[in-house]
Amino acid sequence: MDYNFHTHTARCNHATGTDEEYVLRAISCGIKDMGFSDHMPLSFADGHESGYRVPIAQVGDYMASLSALREKYRGQINLHIGFEMEVYPSRFDEMVTLAKGYGAEYLLLGQHYIGEEWPDGFYPLMPSDDPAQLAEYTDCVVTGIESGLFTYVAHPDLFNYTGDDLDLYRQQALRICEASLVHDVPLEINVLGIRNQRTYPRADFWAVAGQVGCPVTFGLDAHTPHQAAYDEDSMAVAKELVQKFHLNYIDKPKLILLK
Ligand SMILES: [Zn+2]
Ligand SMILES: [Zn+2]
Repeated sequence: MDYNFHTHTARCNHATGTDEEYVLRAISCGIKDMGFSDHMPLSFADGHESGYRVPIAQVGDYMASLSALREKYRGQINLHIGFEMEVYPSRFDEMVTLAKGYGAEYLLLGQHYIGEEWPDGFYPLMPSDDPAQLAEYTDCVVTGIESGLFTYVAHPDLFNYTGDDLDLYRQQALRICEASLVHDVPLEINVLGIRNQRTYPRADFWAVAGQVGCPVTFGLDAHTPHQAAYDEDSMAVAKELVQKFHLNYIDKPKLILLK
């Protein structure tokens, strides 16, 4: 594995280490293409900023620090600088404009909230058996895929559906997988989910992806320097998923550059 476009930095308040430690770890483990995709800065009503994002006050430092590292390690690793971002329908155009204005080269779609996050958002890793919430999550992800602006979808199987109606779950998964196929936007098997034994990667989602044949890639979602490289145990699980569900694994995704 010589690529990873899903890397965070300590600025998001739930990651650790220096930017350079992430880069050095990736280089030492043979990564050739590395993307930083920290949680995009965004403010809400009354200036509220969520605690899991890069603070707006630090976005200049994020860009400057990573740009300097790109130059310092040129020839050893190709660094790309972007953000991981949600689709909030009423603000999506504004969010894309902001990302471009901050200087992002690329975006990953990571739908960490529905209900537009704040003040009434729902975090879809919390258990939910609500079909309406699952549909809203899916609508946001499909909208993002259709926009053509995202390099890939991070952890598309993030929604922690706990209801009994698995046909309903598969129908919503099918919408994401078909959009991915039609628009050629890969879906990520999230290695952090494997490492931390989260509810994703979720077998019933990837079974649908295998039937559809949509493009699939891997992403580390590194929140520590150590996680900026692949490890054998989690790679074995990821590759097992590819084999078991006959996934259309494309290896390194094509970077969609923001214009
Ligand atoms: Zn994070
Ligand atoms: Zn992430």
